[in-house]
Amino acid sequence: RPDLLFPALRTLDLRGRKLSAAELKAVMPRAETTTDVASDAVAAIIGDVRARGFAALSELAAKFDGVELAHPLVPREALRTALKELDPAVRAGLEESIRRARIFAEAHRPADVEVDIADGAKVTHRWVPVNRVGLYVPGGLAVYPSSVVMNVVPAQAAGVASLALTSPPQKEFGGLPHPTILAAAELLGIEEVYAVGGAQAIAAFAYGIPAGDAGPALEPVDVVTGPGNVFVATAKRLVKGVVGIDAEAGPTEIAVLADGSADPRLVAADLISQAEHDPNAASVLVTDSEELAGSVRAALEDQVASTKHSERVRTALSGAQSAVVLVDGLEQGIAVCNAYGAEHLEIQTADAQAVAGRITSAGAIFVGNYSPVSLGDYCSGSNHVLPTAGTAAFSSGLNVTTFMRAIQVIDYSRDALAEVSAHVVALSRAEDLPAHGDAVSIRFAG
Ligand code: NAD
Repeated sequence: RPDLLFPALRTLDLRGRKLSAAELKAVMPRAETTTDVASDAVAAIIGDVRARGFAALSELAAKFDGVELAHPLVPREALRTALKELDPAVRAGLEESIRRARIFAEAHRPADVEVDIADGAKVTHRWVPVNRVGLYVPGGLAVYPSSVVMNVVPAQAAGVASLALTSPPQKEFGGLPHPTILAAAELLGIEEVYAVGGAQAIAAFAYGIPAGDAGPALEPVDVVTGPGNVFVATAKRLVKGVVGIDAEAGPTEIAVLADGSADPRLVAADLISQAEHDPNAASVLVTDSEELAGSVRAALEDQVASTKHSERVRTALSGAQSAVVLVDGLEQGIAVCNAYGAEHLEIQTADAQAVAGRITSAGAIFVGNYSPVSLGDYCSGSNHVLPTAGTAAFSSGLNVTTFMRAIQVIDYSRDALAEVSAHVVALSRAEDLPAHGDAVSIRFAG
């Protein structure tokens, strides 16, 4: 009985149920530990960092990372040494990842738009990079040198002048971030690297830390980006408005939309590959084929047992956030995926390109059998910092424009202003703001 295999992964049977988009969103699996749950603890951490600066960072590093931290700025020498000692195969992988990410980021830097509204009436939409950014690179359960690439490359392509990067201090590396992270930073020419993790890192970037006995100031940034666990994602939500953020790129999610033509071994491997990130990670299979669901369960039995992080994977797959979702057919499957808005959505169906074209909510879409999410995690050219927890409904994956904002430039001649002046005066009277109209009329008086 294939439906009895891998029982830890629950089944959500939506067949025969006519649900609206909002109802579908509500019934889809979600993690129990969310940004709402973590927000009190995270608000306290942010308050502490604002009030006590480096002293708070040092205490939090001892509490969460088990390290003694005098000043979190990583010495330049440590960056150089890490790159010198980097495994050549890993260096080659990082270089290829950087090369592909650069091709995409540079091609998609937005062009200014200059529009002639009427004769002599010009409005320009001018893109400019933000001045300074704070880039978060996770390093709790796993270390993510790939996230150095994903953060830094679009920021550099945008033309940001000042880039600071942070990652949690590691006990086994003397309180520095993991050496592969330092090496990746050095490879990309990043000089300002901190050993701070979690919500405290996001707070330090957002509010800055004044210079003190411990060492130089950490200057506040304009935009904070990067993925992280639920504490990092919650902190980004709480500092949004003080700084810009990319998206809430929290614990990872994969949804696979598959029909009976999919290969169950590939589907299982891809579900596992995201589950190994975090016990809170979500792996969701959406299918209209009970037979495929059974074969995926059989493949999970085999593959989960032999994978390195099998305990973490099992926890993620058995959590409230993971499920096999049975649907009536492709139409309902597409509606379910659009309501869910997965961070990563794989399409493993017949005519996968056409199905992908009908998806309107996802962080990124991986089309067909040869575009697995783990390709996108490292080397596809796309970015792996993507919106989670349904925030794909209103936000995008990290990209060049995350590090830019546009200024609208208005340039009218005398004649062009004259042509529209009566309308300005009429509208200003309608709003009972007559000084607005006067500011135009005075230019033509006498
Ligand atoms: P992390 O760097 O995000 O978090 C580690 C830090 O969390 C620690 O330094 C500590 O300060 C803090 N922390 C741990 N327990 C805490 C607690 N109880 N209270 C307050 N703070 C606490 O590293 P991680 O934990 O390995 O998580 C990495 C996450 O990044 C995973 O969830 C992974 O799925 C996610 N990720 C997401 C994307 C994306 O684009 N959405 C991409 C890559 C990775």
